[in-house]
Amino acid sequence: MTSTLPQAFTPTTIQASPGQNAKLATLPVSVRLRERLEESSASFFANDNISAFLREGELQELEVEVADKVRDLLRSLVIDIDNDHNTAETAERVARMYLHEVFKGRYQDQPKIASFPNVKKLDEIYTVGPISVRSACSHHLVPILGSCWIGIKPGDQVIGISKFSRVVDWVFSRPHIQEEAVLILADEIERLCHPLGLAILVKAQHYCMKWRGVKEPQTSMVNSVVRGDFRHDPSLKAEFFELVKQQESALTY
Ligand SMILES: [Zn+2]
Repeated sequence: MTSTLPQAFTPTTIQASPGQNAKLATLPVSVRLRERLEESSASFFANDNISAFLREGELQELEVEVADKVRDLLRSLVIDIDNDHNTAETAERVARMYLHEVFKGRYQDQPKIASFPNVKKLDEIYTVGPISVRSACSHHLVPILGSCWIGIKPGDQVIGISKFSRVVDWVFSRPHIQEEAVLILADEIERLCHPLGLAILVKAQHYCMKWRGVKEPQTSMVNSVVRGDFRHDPSLKAEFFELVKQQESALTY
């Protein structure tokens, strides 16, 4: 199409010639995506969300590509996937699990979360938790499982408390290290409701310490982030940790 246009009107940024388009179409979808991300200088680390760069149908294409690579991995592990009935469809299962479940927070848009004006001018802090944390470590891709608590001092906007679970699930469903995960979560919550104060506590067990490596079954990692009024006011920060303690003791198993 573009070949019939005068040179001066040829779009320079997006349009490729039919030949180039054909070549692009033969590239694996992950390569096309990577090119798009690099063109935009967008980060695509393990804990980044890249959903804005995915076009219609590409997640399904990615599923096929990932399954092919997992099949290769199983073959390299010398597992007889052609005859072993237990692993015959493992590659497809793992691809689905990564893209649609455990790492969905990389490929899916943020869940729709509406914020509302704080009409009652609520200014007391509240905490929500425990909220389940399910993630995987970026280093070994094995589970990180735990809980998180979120403390809010409301600003002009509020969101429903169940919405925090949705954001936590979306943010943690990526390969992470816990120290960065809590910061990413804090950024997302601040963007959603601009609280005057925000505190987050995460307690999690890392299967790369339990299942492998040092094999410490009971070790957990606890970290927190405090921003705004929670950072500036030590009594508010202490109140947050006290409320979390009360929530923990109120748990019924
Ligand atoms: Zn690890």
